[in-house]
Amino acid sequence: MKFCPRCGSKNLNYMPWLGEIYKCRDCGYRGALIVEDGEFADAIDAIKKKSSK
Ligand SMILES: [Zn+2]
Repeated sequence: MKFCPRCGSKNLNYMPWLGEIYKCRDCGYRGALIVEDGEFADAIDAIKKKSSK
C-alpha cells in the first residue's frame, strides 16, 4: 500500500514514464516521494484528521 505524503490519500497514480513519479488524485501532489505501508500510516492518518477539519 502506498500513501500520499501530503494528505495520506491512497489514490495515487503511478507515472513511470515521468521517471518514477506518483501523482495524488486528492491533493494534486506529484513526486517520487511516497509513504509505503504500515510504519508511517498512523502519522499520516493523524495529519489527515488534523487537516480535514
Ligand atoms: Zn495527496
